[in-house]
Amino acid sequence: MSGAYALLGHPIEHSLSPKLHDAINKITQTDNTYVALDILPENLESEVKNIIATGIKGFNLTMPHKQIIIPFLESLDSISKRTGAVNTVKVINDKLYGFNTDVNGFSEAVKKETNRDFKNETIVILGAGGAARAIAVACLEGKCKKLSICNRTSNKADALVEFLLSSNPGVSRNTVVACDINNARISTADIIINCTSLGMSPNSNDEMPLPIDTFLHEGQLVCDLIYNPSETKLLKFARDKKAVVMNGFPMLFWQAIFAWQIWNEREINETEIDKIKKLLKGQII
Ligand code: NAP
Repeated sequence: MSGAYALLGHPIEHSLSPKLHDAINKITQTDNTYVALDILPENLESEVKNIIATGIKGFNLTMPHKQIIIPFLESLDSISKRTGAVNTVKVINDKLYGFNTDVNGFSEAVKKETNRDFKNETIVILGAGGAARAIAVACLEGKCKKLSICNRTSNKADALVEFLLSSNPGVSRNTVVACDINNARISTADIIINCTSLGMSPNSNDEMPLPIDTFLHEGQLVCDLIYNPSETKLLKFARDKKAVVMNGFPMLFWQAIFAWQIWNEREINETEIDKIKKLLKGQII
């Protein structure tokens, strides 16, 4: 089975997704194409209609389209409903079906890269944007003990907490709260996940999302969703403190694998995964 696929975003020129999907298509011997399309938010509806007319089979969405695509979709899977964001769309008979593979992509990345999970862990998420939504749902799905969301603009953290409470049945205020950057919760957290863009290239040298490195400690898991640079200042401090660290590439990798599986309706096996990783080594890892 072959087909045309795309990534819609803005800006898009530095995206690694086309290389990632080229590698997946090569190893799975699938004759698919995958291109990045720079689309302004105000043009999303008309551009989506245009690409459907070309016979596209599916597309990914990145900033700033993950939430604004929702009104144009026929239906959402349960994970994207709980997240309020869609990163993967499958086109069937010109109708659009929404999925969110960032959630399972992050959980799988943590499992595979660090051998850890979220069960009974106390977790702090830094940031309350689109990425934080998916990470929060991954932590809640993984049955974390406490999830604290800390954001520069505190009312956005409050709004995300309210959304998570209303869209994730069984989750209570005992589990998910908004918190301030100086809150002691951060220093005692088992897991800290940076979902802000602070530390991302080209501002990678002087910025980090926590005010001081004393928040970090041995044994903690510290994740940064940023993959460029591959080691942010936050991850470097965390590594120096003997924390377990993970950058954003494994999540990007696994969300792409899961999107491909939805589009192509087949699993990518372990041998193929190893071959894809090997092919990407030196290219983008
Ligand atoms: P977004 O919706 O624009 O959210 C950006 C977040 O960063 C907001 O919480 C914002 O806080 C915070 N922020 C920005 N500048 C800041 C500053 N100077 N000080 C403190 N906080 C600041 O973006 P997003 O889609 O969530 O993406 C966030 C990051 O995750 C990006 O680096 C992106 O590349 C990365 N990401 C990685 C993956 C992956 O697969 N690895 C997937 C998605 C995203 P305010 O609300 O106060 O503005």
